[in-house]
Formats: sequence, structure tokens, C-alpha cells
Amino acid sequence: MEEFEYGIIGGGPAGYTAGMMLAGNGHSVVLFEKDKLGGTCLNKGCIPTKSFLHSSDVYSEIKHAENFGIKIDNVELDFSKVVEKKNSTVEKIRKSLELAVKNSGARTVYAEACVKNKNVIEAGGEEYSVKHIILATGSKPREIKGLEFDGKFILSSDDILNLTQIPKSVLIVGSGAIGIEWARILSNFGTEVFLTEMAEHLIPLADIEVSKRIERIFKQKKLKFYLNDSVEKIENKKVTLKSGNVIEPEFILVAAGRVPICPNCDCEKILGDACGEIQLAHYAIHQAKQFALGIPFDKNLIPSVIYGEPEIAWVGLREQDMDENCKKSMLPITALGKSWCDDCTDGFIKVITKEDKIVGAHIVSKEASSLIHILLTAIQNKICINDLKKMTYAHPTYSEGIFEVLM
Ligand SMILES: Cc1cc2nc3c(=O)[nH]c(=O)nc-3n(C[C@H](O)[C@H](O)[C@H](O)COP(=O)(O)OP(=O)(O)OC[C@H]3O[C@@H](n4cnc5c(N)ncnc54)[C@H](O)[C@@H]3O)c2cc1C
Repeated sequence: MEEFEYGIIGGGPAGYTAGMMLAGNGHSVVLFEKDKLGGTCLNKGCIPTKSFLHSSDVYSEIKHAENFGIKIDNVELDFSKVVEKKNSTVEKIRKSLELAVKNSGARTVYAEACVKNKNVIEAGGEEYSVKHIILATGSKPREIKGLEFDGKFILSSDDILNLTQIPKSVLIVGSGAIGIEWARILSNFGTEVFLTEMAEHLIPLADIEVSKRIERIFKQKKLKFYLNDSVEKIENKKVTLKSGNVIEPEFILVAAGRVPICPNCDCEKILGDACGEIQLAHYAIHQAKQFALGIPFDKNLIPSVIYGEPEIAWVGLREQDMDENCKKSMLPITALGKSWCDDCTDGFIKVITKEDKIVGAHIVSKEASSLIHILLTAIQNKICINDLKKMTYAHPTYSEGIFEVLM
């Protein structure tokens, strides 16, 4: 039986990060992956969706190019090429990841692994002796009763990646990160999007003012959404909502969260989505870094990004968490010259402060996914607002908004 110090089950961001870092530190590591290295993030999540998103943005921008003085006739969408681009992007990244794991000295075994006891893992008919077992087995799309996935009319976030053509209409169930992102992708491609959310507001985990602003933007864009609502019945692809609204979408995308895959077995540590905590790739990666290298992090300061149109990002306290010692200030994106040049004036930058420090930040804007890190740096390092004001922000940028909101 081959012997290793660490046996890691799952080759997603949690597993491959822990594997590479432990191996890089001189430990012997075997990493088991039953499918493809990179896990959900690289193969079915973050990366393929961002490739679709970029193609859909390019298409939509070209269609609206006249606003910027450019006339383009006969814009044609070849969706098979969009899919090819997505596949080649994922493959390129996977190849470099495979190489990086190999170069780290970790051994990868492509087989489903099963824990036999606290020191033995079985995979592909072989047994491996390990001192420590780490589970990084990820998560899977959550099914809703009455909306069981069939891959044809009721799709999961995995199924939708196999689209071969753009649907005329779609009903998205759930307005979290996945639902909002697909609403943007599909509406950019010209699909009529309907969205239903059980909670009172879109993006229920966000700051309430963010949710309300996104609802306003959805209304302006004529994206139809139903709050406090859910699917009541489906008859011949005719979907009746609890509210009585009837929709006839080409298919339904169920984006109602993910369930941890966490086999009940003897292990030393569980990392990433399998923990059932914060299901984000960067959380999985940092948990792995903490485990392998002892690099600590604050669980309350994990940035959230939603790739809507415009982007949404936040970290720290929200409006609904504020107490009497908190204050807030808000800057509309229209205050920034750059937003008018880009025709992206929807949104705001909002900071929540306590005494002279920032404790929460919420951004609805183009580039929100990058901007949030400036505020995260300030929050995490407890930088005083007066010190932040001493920084010079380049003009014209969206970052200037951070200076403006603090003023
Ligand atoms: C559509 C979508 C979009 C997303 N977009 C983002 C985003 O933009 N940003 C972000 O931060 N997060 C995003 N996420 C979430 C992100 O993908 C996950 O948080 C991340 O992949 C979790 O990493 P992980 O290593 O814990 O698990 P996973 O990435 O799920 O990896 C687990 C791996 O374990 C393997 N495995 C399971 N059981 C076994 C076994 N018994 N033997 C061997 N191998 C096994 C699986 O095959 C899988 O490869 C998205 C998710 C989805 C679905």
C-alpha cells in the first residue's frame, strides 16, 4: 500500500489549493478527483459562466454600439462558437492547473475515493495509507420538491452549461448569485427572462438598499420578476406561480442554492463547499490556505460578488445589521464622469461607518467586483477614514467614488 501524509478527496479549489500548498511545504500528498481537476469552480461554475457572460456582454455592446457612434449592420450570434470559446477557456485553465499541481509534488489519482478508516482511502481498486484525511468534496445543485431536474424542461446550473442554442424565454427560480448572473447572460443574448424569488426582495442576502436598487434596475430593463412567489404547478410546460401568474418558458433554471456533499466518514478536516458554510471559491481557497500554511482570515470579511448588470459587491455590515452607532453615506454612480462616458450610470457606492472606521461597503456599479477590494483593505486593516481621504484616486475612474463617498 502506498503511503502519504495527506490524502485529500476532491480536486476543486479547496482540495487543489490545500494539496499544492502542503506538497510545496514538503509533505507527501495524494489528491483524489473523480471527475476533472478544478471542481465546480473551473468546470461548472465560476469560469464557464464568466466566459458565457463575456460573450453575451460583447454581443449586447455591439448591438448597442450606435449609442457610441458606431453603426454595425447584421450582427449575428453563432452560439456554437460561444460554447467553443467557453470550452477552450476551461481546458486551457485546467491544463495549467494540472501542471501546477504536478509541479507542486502532489500526486493526483483520478478515481472516486472512499474512506475505509481514518488512515486508509480506497480509490480505483487501490488502497492508500494516509496519516491525515481531508474532505474537499464540494456541493451539488439543490433540488426543490416539484421541480426535480430532468435536464430538459427543469435545468440545474450544471445542465444549462450544455445549452446548444439561446432560448426564447426562461424562468429562473431563485435570485442569488447564480440566478442573477444567468438573468444577465440570457437577457444580453436576447432571451425573455422571468425570475421568481420566494423572499420579499431580490438577492435576499444583500443589503436591503442594494436589493431594492436591483429591483428598480430590473423594472427599467423590463426584466419580469415575482417576489414572495414560487412555482405552484406545471402542466404541459405551462408554469403557474403561487401568485396566479402564468408563464410559458422554454425551460426553467432552478438556482436555489447548493447542498454540501459531505460523506459521513472519519476525517481530520472538511474544506470548501462541503462544510456547508460560505459557498464561494475564494472562501474555499482561503480555508485551504489557513489549513495548509496557517494564514488566518476573518470569516466576516469574505467579499460577495454578483455578476449582475451592473455588478454588485459587498463586504461587512449591511443596512439591516446597523446599530445606533453606525452611520451611512452613499454616492450615486452618476456623480462619476467615467460612468457617463461608459453609459453605465446605474448604481451607487455605499459605506457604513462606525466612529472613524468603515465597517460595511456595498457597491452596485460597473467594476464593483474590483472596487470592493479597496474598501475591504480599509475595513480589514482598520484604516481611518481620514487616512483614506489622503489617498489620491486617479481621474476619471470608478475608484474616485470611494473618495467622494467618504467626503
Ligand atoms: C454556476 C456557478 C457559478 C459560480 N460562480 C462563482 C463565482 O463567480 N465566484 C465564486 O467565488 N464562486 C462561484 N461559484 C461557487 C464555487 O464554484 C464553489 O464555491 C467552489 O467550487 C467550491 O470549491 P470546493 O473545492 O469546495 O468544491 P468543488 O469545486 O465542488 O470541488 C469538489 C470536487 O470534489 C470531487 N469529488 C467529490 N466527491 C469525490 C470523491 N468521493 N472522490 C473523488 N473526488 C470527489 C468533485 O468531482 C469535485 O471536482 C459558482 C458555482 C456555480 C455552480
